[in-house]
Amino acid sequence: MIAICNNEGACGIAATGAALARGDAALDAIEAGIRLVEASEEVRTVGRGGWPNLLGEVELDASMMDGSTLRTGSVGALTGYLHPVSIARQVLERLPHELLVGEGARRFAAEIGAEAGELLMPHARMAWERWFRTEVGAAEQARWPDVPMAELCQQAIDPEIGRDTTVFLAQDAEGHIGAGTSTSGWGWKYPGRLGDSPIIGAGSYADSRYGACACTGVGEMSIRAGTSRAVVLYMKMGMSVEEAVHEAVEDMRALKGGLIGRVTIHAIDRQGGHKVVAVNGLPENHYWLWRAGDAAPSSQPCEIIAISDVPAPKPTAHRRYEQMGL
Ligand code: ASP
Repeated sequence: MIAICNNEGACGIAATGAALARGDAALDAIEAGIRLVEASEEVRTVGRGGWPNLLGEVELDASMMDGSTLRTGSVGALTGYLHPVSIARQVLERLPHELLVGEGARRFAAEIGAEAGELLMPHARMAWERWFRTEVGAAEQARWPDVPMAELCQQAIDPEIGRDTTVFLAQDAEGHIGAGTSTSGWGWKYPGRLGDSPIIGAGSYADSRYGACACTGVGEMSIRAGTSRAVVLYMKMGMSVEEAVHEAVEDMRALKGGLIGRVTIHAIDRQGGHKVVAVNGLPENHYWLWRAGDAAPSSQPCEIIAISDVPAPKPTAHRRYEQMGL
């Protein structure tokens, strides 16, 4: 048995480990852990408390994958619901589909009685309002929201804008492997932008015969490289989990143009091994690990591999607001 999650999942990993220890299924343990991260207002990039898009709305993405059936469930650009991971789980359990977005995802959430709630917390509303007042021109403010947003969303490529995700991977006592993700994506993203988190094969993948993988960071990169599916496929083709993750890093070196930044690749194999590499990462990048017999999860350093120069952060309004503690 093993569970890993990224640093953002700190408040949920103990629950996932405890659930596995008492014999719960991998997907149940993952969902329990991610729900705690979604509920925490301290976590500014997942669920309630996440940063909004350009329109000032919090849009959530989430997914779950059952590695024993290869069933998946995802929701994208979902607004107004507190636990997107559980709605993704119900897509997996109840629908003949794998991915719902926008209004359709909202409809389904209402239909299954999911818990609705305000996602935009006061700190995020204040930051968005200050950004609107200080960075959007007077003419655009007057016509808002009927303005071109392509230029405005370029600000979202600032790597220091509040963004992250939570990803959990687990193998249960029966050997079943699962994956789960949940995120508010990027602050100030173009409305409707999906990251890698709801895209199975990019942001996550699980196959109980081999292992599982999930990514955080610039989702545009893991979508382009098909990273999570690739890592599991490399293991199927005979690579160790370390070799598979390193091969996926090599795939990222082939990306030309577009948005290049930081991506952290988390992977486990079916023998209880794991590997986490932070591509273009920072020395402080960590993840959380729980294994059968561990009294508590432990924080572990990621391996850092630089593949390109990441632009220095611009002192955007959002960053200043974060520094002000908003
Ligand atoms: N991967 C997420 C996304 O692209 C963001 C992140 O993990 O920083 O939406």
